[in-house]
Amino acid sequence: ILSVIGRGFYGKVQLVKKKGTNELYALKSVHKSLLIEHQKVHTILSERNVLMKSKHPFIVDICFAFQTSTKVYIGLEYVAGGELFSHMRKCKKLPLEEVRLYVAELCLAIDYLHSMNIIYRDLKPENVLLSMDGHIKLTDFGLAKMLSPDLKQAETFCGTNEYLAPEIVQRMPYGQPIDW
Ligand code: ADP
Ligand code: MG
Repeated sequence: ILSVIGRGFYGKVQLVKKKGTNELYALKSVHKSLLIEHQKVHTILSERNVLMKSKHPFIVDICFAFQTSTKVYIGLEYVAGGELFSHMRKCKKLPLEEVRLYVAELCLAIDYLHSMNIIYRDLKPENVLLSMDGHIKLTDFGLAKMLSPDLKQAETFCGTNEYLAPEIVQRMPYGQPIDW
């Protein structure tokens, strides 16, 4: 374990180095007891399953997953450029060419998820990472929802307050358009 790179309510993300190969990974760990207490066990399972299903240049790669008696762990490729959120804050105003690139790449990532019947549900600059080559990687699939032919809409009130879609605020059933 090298350092802590992110913290959330259910756990944290650490930068880790694999013994022997020296490969870097971002290791997300969540407490089972907190998930059980808040009836959120399904979220970590769906996070793992959605990540296992998706393979896209603008979506973070899952490398491994395991559990101990107290925690669930997800090993992700380490994306070294930090959050788009921090980058936006530092720059104050992003150059138009950069905005164009990030929006285009995000559209490709979201469209790819939708083509696999997945709603992402937590799009925000904190969950968009920048890789060292300047391209984006979408991370944090904790709220991602797998739809099916029998389940074309979802109803759960979730997301992040500052970024909620109107359908969700109005407590209406909603579908993939909430990501747009
Ligand atoms: P939470 O569900 O708690 O929001 P996230 O999956 O969004 O957890 O991770 C929290 C933070 O950790 C992210 O906002 C980001 O700063 C950092 N992080 C997450 N995944 C990676 C990764 N693969 N590489 C580098 N940093 C990451
Ligand atoms: Mg997050």
